[in-house]
Order: sequence, then C-alpha cells, then structure tokens
Amino acid sequence: MKLAFCVEDDTDEEVFRVLLSRAWKTEVVPDEQPLRFPRGGWAKALQLAPIIAKAAHRRGLDGAVFAIDNDGAAPTHLPSHQDAIPGCRLCELRKAARIQEPLSWDRPGLPPLRYVFAVPVQALETWLLLARGHDFKGQAEYLGDEPNGRRKLKKWLYGDETPDRETMRRAALPIAETLDIEALAKVSPSFEAFLSQLR
Ligand SMILES: [Zn+2]
Repeated sequence: MKLAFCVEDDTDEEVFRVLLSRAWKTEVVPDEQPLRFPRGGWAKALQLAPIIAKAAHRRGLDGAVFAIDNDGAAPTHLPSHQDAIPGCRLCELRKAARIQEPLSWDRPGLPPLRYVFAVPVQALETWLLLARGHDFKGQAEYLGDEPNGRRKLKKWLYGDETPDRETMRRAALPIAETLDIEALAKVSPSFEAFLSQLR
C-alpha cells in the first residue's frame, strides 16, 4: 500500500509507516515524493492538506496520512466532535483537507482512497514514551504544550534535547515496531483517535 506521508520530519514518517503497516497487517510504503509540514507551521499545514489530498488521487496512491503534533492547541480532539470544532487540530486538519472531493472522483480499477489524520497530544514523543512505560505522573496529556515541555520530551525519549536524525531513528523505530497498539490506545486518547480510523 503506497501512501503520501504529510508529516513533520523523516522520523515521523518512519514511525507512522511502521504503525500503519502493523495495524493494517500489510506493508505500507511512502510515495517517492516526500511531503513535509513545516515544523510549527500549522497555518501552512492547513494550506497544504487539500493539495496533498488531491495529489494522492492524481498520483494513483492508496491514500495519504496527515500528522502534526498538537503542541498545546486546544481543545484536543474528542470522539464527540461531529462537525469541525474550532481550535481542535484533528478536526481542522480534516476539514481543511476536503477529502470528500477526491473521494468522489473516479478511480477505475483502484480501491477507494484512504485518508488518515493523526494529531499526537502533545507530540509524537508522548506516544512513544507512553509506549515505553514512561511515568508521566498523570501529566502525559499536558506536558509539551509549550517549548520547554517539548524539550523535556525529547530529552527523555532521545537522551538529547536536539537529537540528530540517527539518534531519533534508533530510539523511535524499535518502540514503533514493538509497542502494544491496543494498550497505547487505552492510555492516549489521541492515539485512540488515530487508531479508530484504521479499524
Ligand atoms: Zn476534534
């Protein structure tokens, strides 16, 4: 299954590729054309989302995954959010992507496009730390809502506030490859919101 990965960096792409492959029990590969949301560039992500959603159709892919850290945005997503709730990144990203348009276009001989949205609260590092059993002392959903907290998440996960790519990869990938998907969904509402779209 080939997907467009609209994420913040290469480590995010690898983590989501592994998680999707495991959840769907099929090998997921990224489109050759790497797509990145600029880190901290929420407004830009909203602009790019519909372009990428349509490109997935044009390029004959199986779909696209859109992922960006919550970074303190409020409110955080709840299953009760029916229409797009202003301020909720998951709702706003999904609305901005306007996937109903490409979903309505013909794809002769191809299965329906799959679009997946993920907004880790407060950051992807939170998911990986929870999976590793880190004791957040009840603050997992809050830590990382400002830059100082996000530096702490990096320090805990990677041992370094400004890790290089190889350090990130070495720490993140083994966790993604082995984490208990259902157990993480129970302790992280934002992971559950991601996972529920895959079931
Ligand atoms: Zn929402």
